[in-house]
Amino acid sequence: MSHVLAAVAWPYANGPRHIGHVSGFGVPSDVFSRYMRMAGHDVLMVSGTDEHGTPIQVQADKEGVTPRELADRYNRVIVEDLHGLGLSYDLFTRTTTGNHYAVVQQIFEGLYANGYIVPKVAMGAISPSTGRTLPDRYIEGTCPICGYDGARGDQCDNCGNQLDPVDLINPRSKINGETPKFVETEHFFLDLPAFAQALGKWLDTREGWRTNVLRFSKNLLDDLQPRAITRDLEWGVPIPLDGWRDRGDKRIYVWFDAVIGYLSASIEWARRSGDPDAWRRWWAADGEGRDAGGYYFMGKDNIVFHSVIWPALLLGYSGEGDKGGEPGELGRLNLPTEVVSSEFLTMEGRKFSSSRQVVIYVRDFLARYDADALRYFIAVAGPESNDTDFTWAEFLRRNNDELVAGWGNLVNRSISLAAKNFGAVPPVDPAGLTPADEALLATARAGFDTVGELIGRHRQKQAIGEAMRVVAEANRYLSDQAPWKLKGDDDKPRMGTILHVALQVVSDANTLLTPFLPHSAQKVHELLGGTGVHAPMPSIVEVADLDGGPAYPVLTGDYTVGARWESVPLPAGRPLAAPKPVFRKLDPSIVDEELARLAE
Ligand SMILES: [Zn+2]
Repeated sequence: MSHVLAAVAWPYANGPRHIGHVSGFGVPSDVFSRYMRMAGHDVLMVSGTDEHGTPIQVQADKEGVTPRELADRYNRVIVEDLHGLGLSYDLFTRTTTGNHYAVVQQIFEGLYANGYIVPKVAMGAISPSTGRTLPDRYIEGTCPICGYDGARGDQCDNCGNQLDPVDLINPRSKINGETPKFVETEHFFLDLPAFAQALGKWLDTREGWRTNVLRFSKNLLDDLQPRAITRDLEWGVPIPLDGWRDRGDKRIYVWFDAVIGYLSASIEWARRSGDPDAWRRWWAADGEGRDAGGYYFMGKDNIVFHSVIWPALLLGYSGEGDKGGEPGELGRLNLPTEVVSSEFLTMEGRKFSSSRQVVIYVRDFLARYDADALRYFIAVAGPESNDTDFTWAEFLRRNNDELVAGWGNLVNRSISLAAKNFGAVPPVDPAGLTPADEALLATARAGFDTVGELIGRHRQKQAIGEAMRVVAEANRYLSDQAPWKLKGDDDKPRMGTILHVALQVVSDANTLLTPFLPHSAQKVHELLGGTGVHAPMPSIVEVADLDGGPAYPVLTGDYTVGARWESVPLPAGRPLAAPKPVFRKLDPSIVDEELARLAE
């Protein structure tokens, strides 16, 4: 496989994102993409902000702004946060672009033409006093599933289940408190049961998935129901059918448009690249994308959309459900290769909650700490396969004892000693390498296979553990060899050899850690006398909407440059930069300060 699609969950643009969000999908997808690029794959990493749906409309109503204005605000905040973390998106866009609308409508039309979208009469609410349609967001009542009293017409924010207004117990209008009247109204439904067989067959061929994801997905197939894909709402993608296109009160449901974002963002990226067909290399099942891999990253609450609903849309568009059909004009499209779901991060033993202030926003975190300190914590202690608790005490310990005292110390003492005694990378003594030298070099070189293989299988915790094991062995080697004692003229060649070996291992370990710690990897590269880009970074670019809409910021970058996934011999005599610390040691007082902020 050479083409790799990294499809990253779309953050919802109704507020700033907290570190729980980015630890589930943001950082892990970046680690994977950076490694795959370094290993020679052609990676396309795409996502954007998810901006439609009732919650954005409700919040915009509350603030007296338009939903577009609200989405503009948080799109920008989220773009800046992801940029601050160094997440290497080829394109991070949004769902309110002309391109996204067009692709969503194209997929809708293809599914409709193949018979997988069916109109169905459902019960819709009207206001008895005005006789007008009452949008979902203006209906409130008790959730029939969990009993929560503030559930909305389309969703319960307490248990997260999708609802229909007619299901609410004691429904009432949020506008004037009256009980809505339910009348028959037409909506469109996705015929999910028509995909049960095709999905089952496909899931049976999946290899390497986390077992809980596969088991959960297969269980869902036993009870697939037709699912509403339109709502009584004004904010969203219009329904592309005659008689519906111009209706102001019905829109495509937000979940339907958001999952199509992976495809629309790929198409937008291609259109911006100057080759509008370039997206096919990752998507065209019968063409250039035949051997491509598609990896989807998300939190566990989103598995159903990626392992069942999105594949169903792709199957239906390609004409491969029970009703058959023809592929739409984009051609047959690739299904996901793997759905990589993470578990949840909690905060000091509690669930993240913006309303209850149990939260640390990415922006606030980055204002006080370095991006790589957070990336390191997420890699070694994040919610990869278990729910995990973020505590400030543990963050402090990981930062100070492992990042600073382990990796930072190795970099600092080997470069300082070499710079002070040689001013450059010292040569290897003609007397040659000892078995201890050889053993350490071999350990570092072997890391490229083990660490790479683990990242490729989404075992990032183990992968960074292996990279840090190389660091620990190098620190032990330096302590054992004690080059600082070899100051006499006779001893200096051996001192040079030891430091040459140590610097080579620093260079190798730095490459192994680059997918995890790209900001510091660039610094270490420069301390070792390297020039140019080692770890490419994304930039924020203001772009015009390709179809005439308002301009917006995207994250993008040139990631064809930078280090490869291999050991590069350090040339003797290369000047070393003046050493300076790569990581910041944190004062233990930050723990109490942060806990006090949480309690405010
Ligand atoms: Zn509920």
